[in-house]
Amino acid sequence: MSERTHIFIYSKHDESSLQKKSILTEMISKQGFNTVDDADSANIIVSLGGDGSFLQAVRKTGFRQDCLYAGISTTGSLGMYCDFHFHDMETVIQAVQHAEIEVRRYPILQVIVDDNPPFYCLNEFSIRSNIIKTFVLDVEIDGLHFETFRGDGMIIATPTGSTAYNKSVNGAVVDPLLPCFQVSELASVNSNKYRTLGSSFILSGQRQLTLRLQQDGNDYPTMGMDNESLSIQHVESVKIELSDRIVKTVKLKNNSFWEKVKRTYL
Ligand code: NAP
Ligand code: MN
Repeated sequence: MSERTHIFIYSKHDESSLQKKSILTEMISKQGFNTVDDADSANIIVSLGGDGSFLQAVRKTGFRQDCLYAGISTTGSLGMYCDFHFHDMETVIQAVQHAEIEVRRYPILQVIVDDNPPFYCLNEFSIRSNIIKTFVLDVEIDGLHFETFRGDGMIIATPTGSTAYNKSVNGAVVDPLLPCFQVSELASVNSNKYRTLGSSFILSGQRQLTLRLQQDGNDYPTMGMDNESLSIQHVESVKIELSDRIVKTVKLKNNSFWEKVKRTYL
């Protein structure tokens, strides 16, 4: 295994992160594994930091299908994507040696804005008005006009993203074993004139969601893919579906999604 394992470590570039990266590099090579400077030649990608760093590690390395991702927390507490503590790497190494590692598969979103190339989201795609004026979206499910939304915006979350931004707007926490995605509203206007479902809803991974922006001047929204903003300015429509791609992560046994939810929120 050690000949075939090439590990790339993703971290921030501040002094403390780089110091941790070099400690980890040394630990890894002592165990007989190779670390590489070029992510393209890696088959294991390790992120050092918090959940935000994990999201960046996956994005910056291109949502690789032929790689396993692992999150190592340097924040003192484990996150939803960070299964391992930096100060307890012995446990990780022992687990690897005793084959106590399992692989998880996380669904991700594929998003297409007008004629732009598709991009992917591990947590969520978010869209909101960037001016102080309500913004109007026609929401279609598989071509069916479902509702006309008027308000601040919407969050389309993956199951693993359901514990992040989605949860702050009262969305449900969704088991990542379910291939699906959740739509949540940001401050919808509801009156005799404007009506939306009002609650979050969860779509099967077989469905396609289309958001059509009313071309009324408020069609230059702020859009986010996880923790990065999109630089596209004018938007007519956004097509969202579950991607064929998945993100594979390594986990220790006895550390299921629901254990993490309990550890983090209860
Ligand atoms: P941030 O603003 O530093 O992160 C917000 C918090 O969300 C951090 O504590 C982060 O953990 C945590 N987080 C990230 N992914 C999570 C997940 N899947 N489940 C539970 N918590 C999660 O920005 P960031 O660290 O780069 O994270 C980006 C994410 O922040 C976005 O994808 C979005 O979901 C979320 N966000 C939430 C709100 C809100 O709740 N109002 C607003 C904007 C963005 P770490 O501290 O370990 O990084
Ligand atoms: Mn963060």
